[in-house]
Amino acid sequence: MIQVKRPSPPTKLKQEGIDEKNLAIEHFEVLNNPKKFEFNVYSRGYIKTALWTMFNNKCAYCESFLPHIEHPHIEHWRPKGKVTEDSDHKGYYWLAADWDNLLLSCGVCNSSYKLNKFPLKVGSKHARLSNDDIYKLEVPLLINPCTDDPELHLNFTCNGKITGVTDEGNKSIEVYGLDREHLEDRRRFTANSIICSRLKDILEDIDEFQSQPAKLMRRIDKKIEELNSFLSPKAEYSAMANCIVREYRRSYNTNRFFLEVTKELVEDSIKKA
Ligand SMILES: [Zn+2]
Repeated sequence: MIQVKRPSPPTKLKQEGIDEKNLAIEHFEVLNNPKKFEFNVYSRGYIKTALWTMFNNKCAYCESFLPHIEHPHIEHWRPKGKVTEDSDHKGYYWLAADWDNLLLSCGVCNSSYKLNKFPLKVGSKHARLSNDDIYKLEVPLLINPCTDDPELHLNFTCNGKITGVTDEGNKSIEVYGLDREHLEDRRRFTANSIICSRLKDILEDIDEFQSQPAKLMRRIDKKIEELNSFLSPKAEYSAMANCIVREYRRSYNTNRFFLEVTKELVEDSIKKA
């Protein structure tokens, strides 16, 4: 998961979203209608297109490329119809077409793991009505890629494993299924064959070609350029790639030349964030 800047909402959503929100509030709060409410606006094609661009064709949670897997899901961070942790909660029906509540997700993260879960920190409680002060009542125990910096909560290793470094990180791994076996296998392949192998090559080049600086730089420049492309927010599993580069720099912090030539990789990642 990486931090993603949310652009302004699509123009059409502004009015359509308000209209559906008003209907949902009337249904649940005025009429107390027990029948199911049909949410339609969030699944409009223009919303999918906007989210697709915003998340660089990747799942907001696991960072897998979506075109290779399936059709993307439009995910409600605060679930629209139910809340697993609060059995008689009707869901955040008033946020079903709220731009800030919509993410793009793969089917596995959404339908097999996240579902209607929305855990909160102990001491806070779920908002239940449209005029509840959501930000006062709730302290979510999940990372939101648009409002939090996942880098502060999650750690990755060269074997594709993910660990939490905060309560939010640990809970997000569990709720989004970020340590599932198939996903770890895919991350391990990227980590080993693409990221770690190039970093090891750079370290070997430094040892081997120290006396031939021109040749050394030619060899290293190409690998830095390749690494840069895998650290880009457009790349699959870029959170892991950035984490591994930072870890290598910590592990080889006495190798001044390695620190110097890899500096632009971490500087670029700061710029991207
Ligand atoms: Zn996913």
